[in-house]
Amino acid sequence: MADNILEVKHLKKYFPIKSSTFGKSGGAVKAVDDVSFAIERGTTMGLVGESGCGKSTTGRTLLRLIDKTDGEVLFNGEDIYAYNKKDLRALRTKMQIIFQDPYSSLSPRLPVGEIIGEAVREHKLVPKNELDAYVDRIMESCGLQPYHKNRYPHEFSGGQRQRICIARAIALNPEFIVCDEAVSALDVSIQAQIINLLADLQEEFKLTYLFISHDLSVVEHISDTVGVMYLGGLVETGATEDIFENPLHPYTKALFSAIPMPDPTIKKERVILEGSIPSPANPPKGCKFHTRCKECMEVCTKEVPPEVDMGNNHIVKCHLYK
Ligand code: SF4
Repeated sequence: MADNILEVKHLKKYFPIKSSTFGKSGGAVKAVDDVSFAIERGTTMGLVGESGCGKSTTGRTLLRLIDKTDGEVLFNGEDIYAYNKKDLRALRTKMQIIFQDPYSSLSPRLPVGEIIGEAVREHKLVPKNELDAYVDRIMESCGLQPYHKNRYPHEFSGGQRQRICIARAIALNPEFIVCDEAVSALDVSIQAQIINLLADLQEEFKLTYLFISHDLSVVEHISDTVGVMYLGGLVETGATEDIFENPLHPYTKALFSAIPMPDPTIKKERVILEGSIPSPANPPKGCKFHTRCKECMEVCTKEVPPEVDMGNNHIVKCHLYK
């Protein structure tokens, strides 16, 4: 049986809409709507989809940075939404997040050594007299030099700043990290360095990642499994090779048809998605993708497609597969 570090069951996150006139509830934006998946310990799951599909809200909800509306999040088999304040404080070191913009997530007034060591000291993770040497070791693991400790974030390049964010997360000895568009703001060559760093750290510290990105090539490179989200729900999940070599859901096919081929002589049919993403406050009935799907059938407009396992845990939610 798989050793799952994280299990997400029927997770929902709705944001209520206040009616402008009387402050009454005017429905809700269904940012995450019945999402279930599991991540095996020591692996990386990529989460992809157009912007606004609910990827980042999913990441934040399963870290309890924002509260869920419904569903369960099990971390090492325990329901983290049942945790009290003390349990939650301990959990904060085990589950970390790395954001897209390293500059805004680093305090400009603190030197790098303080940024990395601050939470380590607060959580008393190492004895006081060992903190300095510990921060040096973490910085070296993340490709930073100990003499960088006294410098401030603005003195570093974008790539180095992201290394500082990664070092700050790693210093807390986490088991699970959500990388939320962690390389999207970086130049391509720097992206590759950070991706390689994340892979090295995964091996060294036995980490598990949820890698949220709209960049499919990066996701293919780093992930063991992939989940494709559309309008708050997962439409397809499976092993990375299965999803990239044999995408089944019409939305996944359209999304993946836009990936540039390394060999320009190989022609690939580009599937253009027509229409815009419907509002998550008023999603279409039946299959949420039916308003943009070229293969839409009558049943798609009425019934929510069931999850079908096509083998090897390759799961698709579409009426074309029964
Ligand atoms: Fe298209 Fe129907 Fe499949 Fe939805 S269920 S993706 S509308 S074929």
